[in-house]
Amino acid sequence: MADEHEKEIMERYDRQLRVAGWNQEKLMKATVVVVGVGAIGCEVAKNLALMGVGRLILVDNDVIELSNLSRQMLFTDEDIGRPKAIVAAEKLKKMNPWIKVEAYFEDVRELDQSVFEEAKVIASCLDNWPVRRWLNSLAIELNKVLVDSSMDGFYANVQIVIPGKTACLECHGDELIPKEIQLAECTLRRRTPKDLVEELKENGIKIDVKTAEKLFELNIKTAYDIKYAQADILEKLDKKTRKKVQELQEKLKPKMPALQCVAALISGIASTEIIKILHDGELGEVIKDLLVYDGLSNRFSLVHLERREDCFVCGDAVREEAISFPVKLNETVLDLKKRIAEKFSIPDPELLYKRWRLSDEQKLADLRPQTGEVIYIDTSRRFMPLPLKIEIVEE
Ligand SMILES: [Zn+2]
Repeated sequence: MADEHEKEIMERYDRQLRVAGWNQEKLMKATVVVVGVGAIGCEVAKNLALMGVGRLILVDNDVIELSNLSRQMLFTDEDIGRPKAIVAAEKLKKMNPWIKVEAYFEDVRELDQSVFEEAKVIASCLDNWPVRRWLNSLAIELNKVLVDSSMDGFYANVQIVIPGKTACLECHGDELIPKEIQLAECTLRRRTPKDLVEELKENGIKIDVKTAEKLFELNIKTAYDIKYAQADILEKLDKKTRKKVQELQEKLKPKMPALQCVAALISGIASTEIIKILHDGELGEVIKDLLVYDGLSNRFSLVHLERREDCFVCGDAVREEAISFPVKLNETVLDLKKRIAEKFSIPDPELLYKRWRLSDEQKLADLRPQTGEVIYIDTSRRFMPLPLKIEIVEE
């Protein structure tokens, strides 16, 4: 680096360089992926950019709306209608021209794995559980530290997932993931297009049976499925139906109460932890417990979460070898899918056995599975299919 540049950098970061143990070089060489550029994502990205984290990768498939401007601090009125990730990247580069910022205006689940390769930390700043759960499974598979932050009105929390060391988002999912999400995700979806029409009607939305039938062909069977349908699946629809689905998604979008002050507070904590992680322990230990902030009762709590060895996402049992799962020969694939949906909160399991994708009506006895063989569960809930070791049980 030329002397002049070095001088400028030293001056820019002067105050933080005075912090005992600070290592600017480590930060300048680091890559962090920020998934979700909403209220928390804007704040986290801004903090990391100002402090000089060398490369930021921003991912968000949403565009800026007027109702975002009360708290998504990188956006202003003239940005309305433009992609959040792209606008955020432009602003951050102005805030600190010494860093690299890349933007992906895409569903994170569509990104190539290579995007995450060089990242040490993934900051999860998402507003919905299905994608958070997917991202959690990706972080575990790729062995990246996940810093997950979320908020709801005056409440907010941060959880740091160090693969193999601290609890992941699923280890205590039974207690920590809202019941309605759990219920939506552990019930296998078996219904008719008319049920979908009815469900949407209850939400004040009208669609015809024909549209519902088209959605069913793509395995979109509930309002919940519509809300979280992936972009590549929608591409399979004809233009008119796709437009309809996008309109529905807009109407069904979760609208949680949210405050800028709480976003700033929890993002400040999350960013501090990310900086500590990038320092490899030289700036002190990171928070290993779930941190919960309650702004109305003036309380910060640390909830200790033990990593579960039998967790189906991060447990050693599943990471080193497949977990055993009982299979009854007198059941059908559909019966087995129902039990898998319930046990692992996977609403849309597809079963892969040997070279086959199994169809619902097939009888397991006809497949002649053997104890010890592996069956793979493919689902939108996970980055990688979940392997299960067949254990034949007598009825
Ligand atoms: Zn876990």
